[in-house]
Formats: sequence, C-alpha cells, structure tokens
Amino acid sequence: MKVLWFMVVSLFLMTACCNNETQEQKNIEIANISKATVKSTIGLLVSEHGDEVKENAQRGVNHAASLWRNVDGTEEEFKAFCQSNFIADNDLKAVSFEKISRNMEILRGHFNKISLDLQKPLHEPMGDIFDVDKAFGAYSAGSHMIEDMYRNKLAFTIALNFPYYSLTEKEKLGKDWTRQQWAYARLGDVFTARIPAEVLQNASEVGSASEMYIANYNIHMGHLTDGSNKRFFPEDMVLLSHWNLRDEIKSHYSRGEEGLASQAKVYEVMKRIIDQSIPKKVINNGDVEWDPVTNIVYKDGKAIEASPEGNERYQQIINNFHALKAMDEHTPLNTAVKRAFEGGMEITQKDAEALFVKFMSSKELKKVAVLIRTRLGRDLQPWDIWYDGFKARSSINAESLDAITQKRYPNAKAFDDDLASMLMKLGFSKDKSEFLAERIDVDPARGSGHAWGASMKGETAHLRTRIPEGGMDYKGYNIAVHEFGHNVEQTISLYDVDYYMLNGVPNTAFTEALAFIFQKRDLELLGINNKNPQKEALQTLDNFWSTYEIMGVSLLDQRMWLWLYDNPTATADQLKAAVQKMAIEIWNDYYAPVFGVKDQPILAIYSHMINSPIYLSNYAFGHLIQFQVEQYLMSADFASEVERLFRIGCITPNAWMQEGLKEDISIKSIIKEAGKAVKEVS
Ligand SMILES: [Zn+2]
Repeated sequence: MKVLWFMVVSLFLMTACCNNETQEQKNIEIANISKATVKSTIGLLVSEHGDEVKENAQRGVNHAASLWRNVDGTEEEFKAFCQSNFIADNDLKAVSFEKISRNMEILRGHFNKISLDLQKPLHEPMGDIFDVDKAFGAYSAGSHMIEDMYRNKLAFTIALNFPYYSLTEKEKLGKDWTRQQWAYARLGDVFTARIPAEVLQNASEVGSASEMYIANYNIHMGHLTDGSNKRFFPEDMVLLSHWNLRDEIKSHYSRGEEGLASQAKVYEVMKRIIDQSIPKKVINNGDVEWDPVTNIVYKDGKAIEASPEGNERYQQIINNFHALKAMDEHTPLNTAVKRAFEGGMEITQKDAEALFVKFMSSKELKKVAVLIRTRLGRDLQPWDIWYDGFKARSSINAESLDAITQKRYPNAKAFDDDLASMLMKLGFSKDKSEFLAERIDVDPARGSGHAWGASMKGETAHLRTRIPEGGMDYKGYNIAVHEFGHNVEQTISLYDVDYYMLNGVPNTAFTEALAFIFQKRDLELLGINNKNPQKEALQTLDNFWSTYEIMGVSLLDQRMWLWLYDNPTATADQLKAAVQKMAIEIWNDYYAPVFGVKDQPILAIYSHMINSPIYLSNYAFGHLIQFQVEQYLMSADFASEVERLFRIGCITPNAWMQEGLKEDISIKSIIKEAGKAVKEVS
C-alpha cells in the first residue's frame, strides 16, 4: 500500500489548507495571548463557576490560547470569548458534544462522498479520462474546513471545552475513562495545532518534489552490461527504485545459479544508488549501457564520461527535514519525529525502537536463517532479507480456480449479490450479514481495486474490483475478498461504534488484519479445502522474515531522523556518510550474526526514506499488530469477535489491544509461532 506524502502531513496537522490569503494577511498572523491573560482568564472562570471547573478551565484555556492569533481578536476579546463559551455544566457539555459530533459527521461524511463521486470517473470504467476528470478528481472540497472553523470560532469553542490530550495522557488517564471521555478526547484531536499556511504550502511543495524525484527514478535493466555486449535482463525491462528492483530480486529465487547472478547484479545497482556513485546518465535513461560493477557507461560500444549523481537522494531528505522542522514551533508535538510517532502512529519512538531491537535480537531468526540456507542450498546473501520461498502453493491449479471464479462472478453485480451469503459462511448471523451487505456496494474498477469506506451513517462503503471480459479470475477474486474484509471493518466501525468521534480503527494495521483473514479464507468461501498442511506454518515464517526486514529499515529511518535533529545544519554530503554508517551499524548488530556477512548497506535502499518521511515504522508495527489480531481471531468465535473488536473504535493502539485482546502490542506471539513453524517445516 502506498501512502501519499500529503497524508502523512495532514494526519496530525489538521489545519492543513492552502488558502488564498494575501501576503499582507499572512505576515501579520501571530500568537498574541500572554501567560498573564491565560492565568487571569482561568481565574475568572474559576471564580464564576467554582473550584470544580479548575482543571478543565486550565487545560481548555491553555489549549485555546495556543491556537488563537491576533487576527482572531485582542487579548481582551480572547478573555471575553472564553467567558461566554466555557461550558461548566456537564449535562450541557454532553448535549453540546452531541451537536458538534453530529455536525462533524455531516461535514466529513459529505466531503468524503463528494471526493468519492468526483473521483468516480477515475476509478470506474466510465469511458475516456479527460483533463477535466483529473482536475475535478484532484479537487478537495473539504480542504478549507479547518481554517474556516478558526474564522467562525467554532475551533476555539471546541478547543476550550474539549481540549487536546497528549498520547501519554491518553494512555495514562484513558484506563479510567468512560467511552464518552474517550470521544471527548478524540474531538480534542481535531484542533491541535495551527501551522501557518506558507509553512504547510512549502512542506507540500517540497514533498511533491520528493515524490517526483522517486517517481522518475527508473533503471533501464535491459541496458546493464559487462562491457562485452552481454545483456542480463530483457531489453525493454525498466524498473522503478526500490520497489521494482526488490521485486526483481524476489522473482529469481526459483532460477538457480543464473537467478543468483541476476540478484547479485540488481544488488550492485542498489549499492550505487545508496552511495550515489550511480552515473546521472543512467537514471531514467535507456540511451546508454552501464556496467554497475565497474561503473563504466558505454555509448555505441564505447566507454564515455559520466558524472555520478552525487548527493541528490540525500538533498531531498534534507529538504524534507527543513520543511517539516519549520512546523515545530507551531505545534505541541514539537519535532517531526514526535508528530509521526506520538501524533500519527500513537506509539512513542522509544517504545518502537525498543521493540524492534528486541525482535531483531531474537534467537529464532538464526533458526529461520538455517532453514532458508537449507532450502536455497547456499549461504545467505544480503538481499535474502527479501527471501520469497515461504509462499504456500495451492494444491489446486490456477486454471481450474479461474474457471470456478469466472463462472461464479461474471460481473460486479454477481459479487455484490453474494456478499451476504459469504458473510454467513464466515459465521455471521443472517441479520448481520444482510445489514453489512446492504451497506457495501461492489463497483467495477479500472485498476486492481480498493475498499473505500463511508464517513457518515446512511452512506455505503465501496468495494472496487476489476473484472475482465470473461469474468473474475482467481487473482482478482483473491484481492476482492481482501477488500471485502476492509469494507466489513469500515462498516462495523462506522455503524456500530457508540460515538461518531470514535469511528474507525486506531491505524491501518487493524483493518489490514481483518482484510488478510478474509483473504486467507477465500478458498473456504468457494467451498474448496486447500490441502497444503504446511500452509499456516509457511505463512507465519513469511510474515516473521518480512517483519525482520522491515524493522531494520524502519530503525534506520528513525535513527536518520534523530541524527538530523542532532545535526540540523548537516549538508547532503554529511547525511550521506551518516546514513551509510548507520545502515552498516544496524546490519552488523542485527543481520550479520544471522546472515554471516558483514558491512552491508542494503537497509538504506528504501525509497520511503525520501518520499514518505518517517513512515516506515508504521509497516513494522503493522506486521506485529496484524499478526496478534489474526492469531486471536483464528482461535476465537470468529464472527462475534469481529463484531466486538471493531466496535471498539479509534482509541489509541495500545488501549485497543488491551480492550480487545487483553494484551499489549508485543513481539512474543510472532516469535513463539515462528519457533513452532520452523520445527514444522524443517
Ligand atoms: Zn489491505
């Protein structure tokens, strides 16, 4: 799943907007509420309503003051605003909350529906896509909502009465909170910081530039040579770094010696990208030939001059760092690292690091490595972090599966008509199955498909799936069942959660867990018994090994950002040296003992480090959470537990795990299961 850069920014910077204010207005927006005014305002509220409102008044006035700007009014006006808008009475507060919540649902629900409808021509086969389709599809009707709420002062009413709680406060106080208090706190997350439009605009531009840089980083593999006219890959093969390069390595596992040589060649390319010795001429260019081993570029058979890319990869990271750092002084989470972890993932960076390090030190990794060595019949190579041989093959051949799904699902409507019966096969009651099926629409898709949930009750979730002329093939069916799992989560966590402000799940790992469990049961839904007895064990090992890989990469991403904050004036050259050093350190600490190879920089190849700042750890956590939820659901009364778990809603990840599974986010269960699986498969 690809995460767009702007989402990373807008997730926790709810003020995100690109507005058309004049330069003059922008320049005069400054925070103008003094500590003395905050203090006297609190004093005023306490003297008016009594000592029992003191704590709420303190938190609310402080929070509202942090968002107030001179354009909103003078200090006296702030004080008067707080006096007339502070809600001391709890019953009145509850009624106000319901009103605000209802209106938030109206706004978010309709904005979501507008986006869904405007993008329909891009997502569903509705004829040729014109530029107007693209322009409307890119338009975001809701992008000014937050800024409008500051202008009409609703943001301040909310901040004053439903203030923000930090992650630490939520986790500590949340243990004793009622559902209503959790819902109040989630409303408090809507207005947390007010970042100047020009700072946001700059971050968005810098982010787009990084997106473009990565989107155009193609390597013409058909033009790799060893200087003797030999080609190693098909003439027209063009691979985007790093995803396609990685997938190319994966695809060679079944090809013996020859495959190994191809993998080694791809790794040479990766190393040149990491250390930036890659010639500029070979990026996105198929007019020359290149030998990644000697680094010589050829044109018409003759070696030519070619300068290295230099530092561009690391300059992009520095640019992102400065753009995100500019937000620090405007938010309570005053570093980009805190915003990504405590704000976005709702897990602290320290907790994440501790868990990853512990996982990467587990002795089960060596056992799995021995198993991989045996299966490959050779020593491990650095790129075997992407070992792909734990995929369980189905005992039924692809053609007969295609025939079954094509017959059963000739079009989207056939799949739509079958939703309720599929849910009943999974154990949902007839009523619940029909309730859910009525709220999920299946649409034909242009691409591979997706699941798009509703944001207000009364609207449906959309399952987009691509169905070719002859009906749905098995691969498409398998993906559609995955998306169906997402839709079921989206529908339960919107319709069945008691407070709208708590709708949803804490983060994507929770919805992926359900999607993958649905996907795993795809054959069962077709009435087929997959007879591979090692299927579960293989899946566990596959998951375990990819968790290992992504944790190393995530740890490097974390350490790089901490290093940037320690060295805020670093040049791209210095960053390049530091990243390579840190990548090798992590390798030597946690991979060399398992692989038997030292000093490898491979963990630094991920493109996310450039175009999705501080996002990689989400995937690593996702693996753990998903595994735990899957394990739990596999032994539970499936349908009723799915309903119970997804009614919990969007509290913090740790609180959700405690409430749902009665355990913390942990590496224990995945390590334990991997230990068992190694024995089973060996
Ligand atoms: Zn998914």
